[in-house]
Amino acid sequence: MTFEEIKAAEQKLILTTYDRYQAMFVDGEGVYVIDQNGEKYLDLLSGIGVNALGYNHPALVETIARQSKKLIHISNLFFHEGQAELALRLTERTGMDRAFYCNSGAEACEGALKLARAYATLRRSEGAKLGTKILALEQSFHGRTFGAVSVTYKEKYREPFEPVVPDVEFVRFNDPEDLRAKFSDEVCAVLVEAIQGEGGVRPLTQEFIEEARKLTQTTGALLIVDEIQAGMGRTGKWFAYQHFNVKPDVVMLAKALAGGLPMGAVLCTEEAARAIHAGMHGTTFGGGPLICAAAVTTIDTIEKDGLVKNAQEVGAYFMEQLRTLAKKYTCIVDVRGQGLMLAAEVNSAELGKKAVAELLKQHIIINCTSDTVLRFLPPLILEKQHVDAVIATLDGFFSKQAALAVAGEK
Ligand SMILES: *Cc1c(COP(=O)(O)O)cnc(C)c1O
Repeated sequence: MTFEEIKAAEQKLILTTYDRYQAMFVDGEGVYVIDQNGEKYLDLLSGIGVNALGYNHPALVETIARQSKKLIHISNLFFHEGQAELALRLTERTGMDRAFYCNSGAEACEGALKLARAYATLRRSEGAKLGTKILALEQSFHGRTFGAVSVTYKEKYREPFEPVVPDVEFVRFNDPEDLRAKFSDEVCAVLVEAIQGEGGVRPLTQEFIEEARKLTQTTGALLIVDEIQAGMGRTGKWFAYQHFNVKPDVVMLAKALAGGLPMGAVLCTEEAARAIHAGMHGTTFGGGPLICAAAVTTIDTIEKDGLVKNAQEVGAYFMEQLRTLAKKYTCIVDVRGQGLMLAAEVNSAELGKKAVAELLKQHIIINCTSDTVLRFLPPLILEKQHVDAVIATLDGFFSKQAALAVAGEK
C-alpha cells in the first residue's frame, strides 16, 4: 500500500486514539529514521523516550536474533535465565531489592499501586494505622489503565471513564505545604515523577521530594517514583531520583527498559515486597526470555558505551545551546530539564504546533507536550553534531517567526 492508501485505510479501520504526524517510517539507523521514500530524519523523540540505543543497534539486533532462535516466550510458571540476570542489574543500580516484570508503563503503575494497597492491608493486619489513600501530583502522567488514569492529573484522561479508582488526591506540584496538609495516616503511598514528562519536563525540587520522603517515613507509607520516562540513564544518572539523593520504596520502569521492545518493571524494597505472595499478581507475557535478554543487552550497552555520561555531557551542551536560543527569541519563555530529557517552552500552543510541523518538514522529529512545551527525548547515543543540526534548524524557524511577527505589526 502507498502512504495515501494506508492513511485512507487507517481512517476507516483504526480506533482514533492518536492524531498522527504526516510521516511514515520503514527503517532506522543510529539517531535517524527513514521514511518510505528513503528520506532520513534526525529523531529527537526516539519513540517517546523508548529507543535509548537509537535504531538497529548491532548489540540489540544480535541479542534479539540470537534469543528468538532459542526461546521467545515461556510462561512465568517456569524458570529461565533472563529474569534473575536482569534483576541483578536493576537492583544493583536502584538499591531496590526485588523486581516484578510487566509489559508497559501503565502496567508498572498498576503493579505499584496494587503493591501500595496490599502493603497497607498487610500493615493494618499487623496493627499499624495505614489507610488506602494515594497522593499523586498535579500535572502528573502515569498511563492509561484505570489505575494509572486515576493518578494522572489531566481531567481529559479520567473524566470520560469515570468512576475511576477511588481514594486518590492530587497535591500541588512542588508545594511541600500542600503535601503536608494532605498527608496523614490515611495515605498509603505518595507517587511522583522525579522529573515530570508529559506534564512539561518539570523537575521536582529537592525540598519537595525530601518532604515526601520524610512524611512517608513517619507513617510507613510508600514513596513511589515513576522513572518510566526519566529512567535508564536519560537524565545523566541511571535514575532521575538519584539527582536528589533520596531512596524511594518503589520504582516504576518501562519505556527505554528493553531498548524498544515493550517491557515494564516494578522494583521495590524487601519490606514492601512482604505484601506480595504467589498468586496475588501476575501477567502472562511479563519478563519473557526475549524481552529480558533485550533489557539485559540494553543495560549492558548503556554501561559499556558510557551512555549515561554521554546523556549528561551532550545534554549539558544541548541545554546551553537552547538557553542561547532563548536569549535570542522572546517567544521561548523557559528552558529546562536534565541530561537528554529537555524542553523549551514557547509562549503559545499555536507556535508549539507549528514548530513540530516545520521541523518535521525539515526532517527533524521533536514533539510538543502540555500544549506549549517543545520536548526533546533523543536516543542516548546523540552527539554534539546532532545538537548543532537541531539548534540551527530551530534558530531558522524562530527567526522566520520573529520576522513574520514584525511584518504582522507593520
Ligand atoms: C509513558 C509514561 C507512562 C505510561 O507508559 P505506557 O507504556 O505508555 O503505558 C507512565 N509514566 C510516565 C512518566 C510515562 O512517561
